[in-house]
Amino acid sequence: MSSELRELYQEVILDHNKNPRNYQELEGATHTAEGYNPLCGDKVKIFLRIVDNVVEDVAFLGDGCAISTASASLLTQAIKGKGRQDVETLFGKFRDMLTQDSTDRQQIDGLGKLAVFEGVCEYPARVKCATLCWHTLQAALDKADVPVTTE
Ligand code: ZN
Repeated sequence: MSSELRELYQEVILDHNKNPRNYQELEGATHTAEGYNPLCGDKVKIFLRIVDNVVEDVAFLGDGCAISTASASLLTQAIKGKGRQDVETLFGKFRDMLTQDSTDRQQIDGLGKLAVFEGVCEYPARVKCATLCWHTLQAALDKADVPVTTE
């Protein structure tokens, strides 16, 4: 990754940490779940309003590091208006980008803005900060009653 790209990615993460999007409780949520990453102390709560298997609205609340907050903020933008299947495909791609040794460019391009977390895979301890909100989203979609933890 070029240093220019790295800087751009960092700017996006810092911006979303400072001004998280869709940061609120969601009225009329049909699905919610809470997640916790004990390694870093990140907490996140995801609210979804799903109608006919489409994410009509999404919001989150949380308390954590810049990566976990920015990831949740970008997640809400990425999944709003998408069908469940598309959301799961997106999560799969995102997880692969962060956990596989080599990710092909085409796959990253399909992630849109979520690609800003590409550099996080170099810091394995931070991968869980970036994926916490996605695991929590998955739990919300599955309507799991137990709190999610990355451990
Ligand atoms: Zn964290």
